[in-house]
Amino acid sequence: MVEEVDKQEIWNIVLSELELLLSKANFKTWFQNTYISQLQDNGETVIVGVPNNFSKNWLEKKYHRFILEALQGATDNKVKKVIYKVEAAILAKEPGPETIYIDKLVPEKVPESNGHGLNVRYTFKNFIVGKGSELAYAACQAVIKQLGKKYNPLFIYGGVGLGKTHLLQAIGHAILEKNPKIKVLCTNAERFTNEFIWAIGNGTINKFKEIYRGVDVLLVDDIQFMAGKERTQEEFFHTFNSLHQDGQQIVLTSDRTPKDIPALEDRLISRLEWGLIADIAPPDLETRLAILKAKCQERKCNLNEEILQYLATHIQRNVRELEGALNKLIAYYEFHRTELDLSVVKNVLASLDTRRKKGLIQVKELIETVANFYGIHVSEMAGISRKRELVVPRQVAMYLMREEIGASFPLIGKELGNRDHTTAMHAYEKIKEGIQQNSRTKQEIDLIKQRLYN
Ligand code: ADP
Ligand code: MG
Repeated sequence: MVEEVDKQEIWNIVLSELELLLSKANFKTWFQNTYISQLQDNGETVIVGVPNNFSKNWLEKKYHRFILEALQGATDNKVKKVIYKVEAAILAKEPGPETIYIDKLVPEKVPESNGHGLNVRYTFKNFIVGKGSELAYAACQAVIKQLGKKYNPLFIYGGVGLGKTHLLQAIGHAILEKNPKIKVLCTNAERFTNEFIWAIGNGTINKFKEIYRGVDVLLVDDIQFMAGKERTQEEFFHTFNSLHQDGQQIVLTSDRTPKDIPALEDRLISRLEWGLIADIAPPDLETRLAILKAKCQERKCNLNEEILQYLATHIQRNVRELEGALNKLIAYYEFHRTELDLSVVKNVLASLDTRRKKGLIQVKELIETVANFYGIHVSEMAGISRKRELVVPRQVAMYLMREEIGASFPLIGKELGNRDHTTAMHAYEKIKEGIQQNSRTKQEIDLIKQRLYN
């Protein structure tokens, strides 16, 4: 049993490292539903369970080095070897339905039962409802009760780490709990795209269509990643129509509303707006505390009220970060077996990576740092002038507020001179593109971040 905990803790640490290295989409696509299946040779060999051969190949080819390094980091260099193994993943060990068959879409022959696309961690039971998530939660419940009838599609949007994926997957679990025969397919836009491209390249497009159009419930996470991918959008549009016509339920998530997703075809936008659009806002202090307490209970770990208060007050905007901090604390405790007091907690948190610090950066501080960096006055950041020497810093601040703080576009617009949210979005996209295309922009952003976090 101790080993069970170790495996989970080690993998949590590895995941939190990898999450920093990879784009969100890649991280999700390749590491969702992975876990340490076994530790062998006294912990020198790690067997990593993966959901299908598609993932196995990618991890071996593209991410092996990172995974090995992260594993070594998490185990004082104990790990020498990593083996990736396709297993009937976590879900199969739990009571519950044999589900989903997403793996039929991917190249190699895989046992029919092992694909699911759902992660057992995400259920309604362990979702804490607060003011910010009330509406989305209620909408999910309504969907489950009246599949395909009440809100179709249901579109959930909100900032990073606020529980969109959790809710989406919980819908899948709840439906299957009621009726394991219902064909639920849970995927994300990135994966849909990859599979679509793969199907085209391999002449299996009919199979692809058959599978996606043959489900009763289609759950698609992070639909914003279809932005700019025209052919994928077209395929998805037809999938959507086909399912919708037959009264099959569709649920989607995104970090913004349909019409705010850039380069999304109008006809698709209009489809996405057909049903209900529900947002999730960051949890208030009370909810953050409740979430922490629930997670502690789940992990059978006692942290005193003072520590929980400290975490909940210091990490405000993102439940994933809150959870990450808690994981690190629990990992620390498991390794050292010493009672945690507040000074230990502060130390552990201080040694955490910038992700946690993101939670501590305040909007004002960020704007000041950017203004200082470009040598302009803070008031000019929010001013009306459109001089280039002011526009760039403003756009950079908008980008960083989004990226580092996870602020919503309306809030960003408001903070920087009561501008419209579309201005903030445009700025965000522009700087993001700039970082990719222009080494100077990237360098500037890196420098500002250094200032921000030191
Ligand atoms: P998103 O998809 O919006 O970026 P996730 O659904 O991945 O966010 O949530 C990030 C983490 O925070 C997950 O581990 C999830 O279980 C947890 N989480 C988010 N919101 C809640 C909540 N209200 N109650 C419990 N856990 C939550
Ligand atoms: Mg998500």
